[in-house]
Amino acid sequence: MPRPPLHALLPLAASWALAAIGWPAPAAAWGDEGHEIIGHLAAHYLSPAARRAVDALLAEDATGLTPSRSLAAETTWADRYRDSDRGGDARRYRGTREWHYVDIEIAAPDLDAACHGHAPLPAGVPASQGPADACIVDKVDQFRAELADPRTEPEERLRALQFLLHLVGDLHQPLHAADHDDRGGNAVRVHAPDGRSGNLHHAWDTVFVRMLGTDPAAIADQLAAELPADAARRYAEGSPREWALESFAVARTHVYAPLPAATDRDLLELDPTYASTACATVREQLQRAGVRLARVLNEALAASAAPRAAAPAAARQPPPIRPALTLIANPRIEALKKNEMMVWAITMRRMGRPRVETSEVWQAAAMVNEK
Ligand SMILES: [Zn+2]
Repeated sequence: MPRPPLHALLPLAASWALAAIGWPAPAAAWGDEGHEIIGHLAAHYLSPAARRAVDALLAEDATGLTPSRSLAAETTWADRYRDSDRGGDARRYRGTREWHYVDIEIAAPDLDAACHGHAPLPAGVPASQGPADACIVDKVDQFRAELADPRTEPEERLRALQFLLHLVGDLHQPLHAADHDDRGGNAVRVHAPDGRSGNLHHAWDTVFVRMLGTDPAAIADQLAAELPADAARRYAEGSPREWALESFAVARTHVYAPLPAATDRDLLELDPTYASTACATVREQLQRAGVRLARVLNEALAASAAPRAAAPAAARQPPPIRPALTLIANPRIEALKKNEMMVWAITMRRMGRPRVETSEVWQAAAMVNEK
């Protein structure tokens, strides 16, 4: 019997009360909880090789900006980095704050304009030092290219990973891909059913996420368990640009369209129906983000089990694969793209086929793609 969705387990009034903790705080991204859920979710779909590479890179983080160097904790690094000099010279703040969103206008949607015409990185400039006026779509593309490139300097590779862990998540907060002449909802004052007030952006960053529960790891476990394999496969498809347009469509349909009219105090009353629908939408966006973050990392790190400097030429050869050879000999499987093979491997594992290890299929996929 399928488990009920998490948000159905909490009476709505009680979940609003829980969600209200910290409600007035200003925000500019999924709250920490949302990002941590996405990190835990991605871990469900990472190949063993990618997971090892992620952990090895994060172990080198000497910034001390996150509570730990775990994958889940490091999903919040880019927000911490951005805010770390906000009270000082604000170089990091001004230099990276625009990378967290793309303001596609509800009234006149134009992603390319919102991405400043997609100006390329100046030659020789690492993505982490790139111009301030770049959108989240282009930054995700730049950082995934850096992470996949064995010539990238180790410190920049770590930065690329840290930004990806966060930005792929932000891309799925609908109000990070939409603007209604309201600073992505920050200028819209709303009133929650529990009687507390805040702004619309914060409601979507944090309030509706907290309705899912209080333990990011447990929420991620449940979201993964409730996500059918074919849905995960569909979610994994597409490009950052398409994911941004999807987030924009979600914002138009589920954030702005059902908003009620303003009251006398210029406050929008978010009733329990709005909150309940929003919670279900947030749930799906978190699932999409987790699956896609794993895909980005799996692709970028497929061939990078070892640091480039320490790897002699012989060691860069793919390890011998025995069980995977039978997979490669199967033309149907050979025809699959790398990403599809990853999802297929996850499906096999979920169907209780212990003989088919994800790592084996992943190695097979890497070899097929290298042909
Ligand atoms: Zn952010």
